[in-house]
Amino acid sequence: MISTTLDAPTTTHADNNGKHRTVRAPRGVERTCKSWAAEAAMRMLMNNLDPEVAEDPARLIVYGGRGQAARSWEAFDAIVATLRSMDADETLLVQSGKPVGVIRTHADAPRVLIANSNLVPHWATQEKFDELAAKGLMMFGQMTAGSWIYIGTQGILQGTYETFAQCGRAHFDGDLKGRLCVTAGCGGMGGAQPLAITMCGGTALIADVDHKRLDRRLHDRYLDELIHDVDEAIDRAVEQAKAQNAVSIGVHCNAVELLDRLLEREITPDVLTDQTSAHDPLEGYVPAEMCTCEAEEMRSVDPDAFQRLSLATMERHVRAMVALQERGAITFDYGNNIRQRALDHGYEDAFAFPGFVPAYIRPQFCEGRGPFRWVALSGDARDIYQTDKAILDLFPNDEGLRRWILSCHANPDALLAGDLDACEPRFGFQGLPARICWLGYRERDRAGLLFNGLVERGAVSAPIVIGRDHLDCGSVASPNRETESMLDGTDAVSDWPLLNAMVNVASGASWVSLHHGGGVGIGFSQHAGQVIVADGTPEAAERLRRVLTNDPAMGIFRHADAGYEDAIHCARDRGAKVPLMRP
Ligand code: NAD
Repeated sequence: MISTTLDAPTTTHADNNGKHRTVRAPRGVERTCKSWAAEAAMRMLMNNLDPEVAEDPARLIVYGGRGQAARSWEAFDAIVATLRSMDADETLLVQSGKPVGVIRTHADAPRVLIANSNLVPHWATQEKFDELAAKGLMMFGQMTAGSWIYIGTQGILQGTYETFAQCGRAHFDGDLKGRLCVTAGCGGMGGAQPLAITMCGGTALIADVDHKRLDRRLHDRYLDELIHDVDEAIDRAVEQAKAQNAVSIGVHCNAVELLDRLLEREITPDVLTDQTSAHDPLEGYVPAEMCTCEAEEMRSVDPDAFQRLSLATMERHVRAMVALQERGAITFDYGNNIRQRALDHGYEDAFAFPGFVPAYIRPQFCEGRGPFRWVALSGDARDIYQTDKAILDLFPNDEGLRRWILSCHANPDALLAGDLDACEPRFGFQGLPARICWLGYRERDRAGLLFNGLVERGAVSAPIVIGRDHLDCGSVASPNRETESMLDGTDAVSDWPLLNAMVNVASGASWVSLHHGGGVGIGFSQHAGQVIVADGTPEAAERLRRVLTNDPAMGIFRHADAGYEDAIHCARDRGAKVPLMRP
């Protein structure tokens, strides 16, 4: 392996609330932990809090409203110190972002087991959670925040791209060329929308109340333009769509303000969705007629009144979406539970439009496909280019995958020619260089083994971390999102994510997490995650083979059991063993 320099690790220990701390993961091949699995967990925790990655690092908030990486700075320090002290056959237990114990296991077992935000179902309410969180007894882990595998906005980019691409195929002439696509929420995940829409040829108009979020996406090249006046932004977007220009326009306003103006001006978008943090009426969503500073103040002074305003705006928001749908906009929910909030607030037609999973993504889940992601622990972007090239060579006939990988490059010819020094990213990496692409059952294990081989041969300069979102084919129960409208009505059955977590522990993932409330809020989802390290050793190869086969197999099992023909065929074709397979 080629040695690279070790960046100064963490932080300036200025104060306890983290205001003056800057956390960045160490780079390179020198370790401060005794195993690569523990080192990787430590670096990925730190990477989640890198200012380039996290939305609000001082508060340990990574993304998705208040999704945190650790419960407090004290807990963060204790996790790091424990990971550094642990032997290669020990396992750290983390309960809602706080390290609570270390057990002796074995070298093939996970190095960290994480449970975040879980409550017994009867008590699984936002109020109970808020009460415990206020006492410092729990934290909200979101999906990849508390499980240390968030990679910035790119993490959601391909899923968002897949969704809009399928929307183009399903409703238009194959893509979104010349289509006006309106949405809101330009935060950690939602910020992928403008780039994904333009990658599908569409014109994006996206509202956010927080201009810092829009500025950040402009800086990272996820967004092309920013306009402060609502009417000017609408005019510009309509004009660009007419000219069939794939351009994204951010507008600094509340989502309802934008939708109300579209209704008043009788302008109907072709596609309409939303990714504001509606899953969290207190810390995520911002009520109408309120700027972010006012919201910040009212949240602390009168949280109950704030939530009432927030929920009232969500009802208005969904009513406007349904009104535009009735005028012809292809409308879908984008996984933030806004329909449920509006329904709870008294709007009976809130579920008039479908969620994005039943509308566009479920057929992929039936093949065990989902968001496979990886990170170069070297910190060297060249390592990611090397893996990009290897993935293209491994799956030469997958046109969609090829288009996706090449579209991540500003200079795709250099990648195709194998001239890695001439490669340039199309959008900025955030923190450690990373890549995502959707792969299915019997594909993810091949990619993992390929990467392990690259590490072994020194073709990349340090180990590669491989993980995924909890939003995956067999790892989540979320009746308003991933498991909405299941064929057999099992939307709310959450045995599946529990089994998924156990499968990953039994298979030897490097860390495994089991969360509640991610994506859609407390009480609405349970989900599991796994991360595994390719360190180039034969032992890692065995673990990779098991984990990256068995983890996506859960998607096949889940959907075959629910009666999806695609999943049943996939199980038969690719050899997943389903004991009671339908004839
Ligand atoms: P975030 O908190 O980082 O960003 C949310 C953004 O919404 C912020 O920029 C905020 O200023 C803006 N906002 C809030 N209320 C607004 C309003 N009324 N009008 C305009 N802007 C408003 O959250 P995120 O990580 O971007 O996630 C957004 C939502 O999407 C969350 O509910 C999250 O759970 C959900 N989510 C969906 C997926 C998916 O695949 N569909 C994946 C992850 C998260």
